[in-house]
Amino acid sequence: MGILLDRLAEKRLMVSDGAWGTMLQASGLEPGDCPEEWNISHPDVVRSIAVEYVKAGADMVLTNTFGGSRVKLEKFGFGDKVKEFNEIAARLSLEGAGGSAIVAGSVGPTGEFLEPLGELSEQQMEDIFAEQISGIVSAGVRVICIETMTAIEEASCAIRAARKVDPELDIITTMTFDPTPNGFRTMMGVDCERAAKVLTEAGADVIGSNCGNGIEQMIPITAEMSKYSDRPILIHSNAGVPELIDGKTVFRQSPEDMAAKVKDLVEAGASIVGGCCGTTPAHIRAIRAEIDKLLA
Ligand SMILES: [Zn+2]
Repeated sequence: MGILLDRLAEKRLMVSDGAWGTMLQASGLEPGDCPEEWNISHPDVVRSIAVEYVKAGADMVLTNTFGGSRVKLEKFGFGDKVKEFNEIAARLSLEGAGGSAIVAGSVGPTGEFLEPLGELSEQQMEDIFAEQISGIVSAGVRVICIETMTAIEEASCAIRAARKVDPELDIITTMTFDPTPNGFRTMMGVDCERAAKVLTEAGADVIGSNCGNGIEQMIPITAEMSKYSDRPILIHSNAGVPELIDGKTVFRQSPEDMAAKVKDLVEAGASIVGGCCGTTPAHIRAIRAEIDKLLA
């Protein structure tokens, strides 16, 4: 049992952080910029995001490494910076967390498909994830958060890669579902039952869902996933549903409205609650207050 499972056993419910992309954009990251390059060019901004979430009451913060895989970084001409970007990001979050909050290394999708749909073999996909995860782990991070997954095979590759890098890591894996006429499904057609079963079999220590939905839709997703797995569930929901304003996608659910659903989410089976797109330290502070009420 690693640091995250220990902490969860001790605290019962935990608060995670909110969006990183939203915060970077607020600090001037432009569309088309490489977010992971900011670990080098804007380390103070990146570190301060971790600091702000810890101050807001997060027990766990992620790293600015969501797109830190070789295939993603190559698109910006940074294919030779995988180790550097991931290691420095991990160090910045560890510094920001200041020893109190747990740091979980964010690992997003590669954006590529496995054979036969795409060109990557499972082995190649695994190697791509292992390279990124090694960079994160080399800074001393002991938890990996594989997130925004839509293909179950890719998620499984990432879990195997993390285990290979270090069998003792705590591995969180979350998938992104959309509401469809046939219930919640990922873009690749995976439903909550299959996600819960396969992620558990693949060896994830914590499963769940992030992005794609507001907290209200996450309640049935949580209930469904917890039916098919005994693993703790982490939920990072968006600040409501996206609205298009002046050609920009924005998420505008208030911290209070989001926090009002935390109790239902926990009752459905979630034990780690944080935010995704559109959430800010104010949302995390409101979620913290709700979780504290439930723990009182
Ligand atoms: Zn999101």
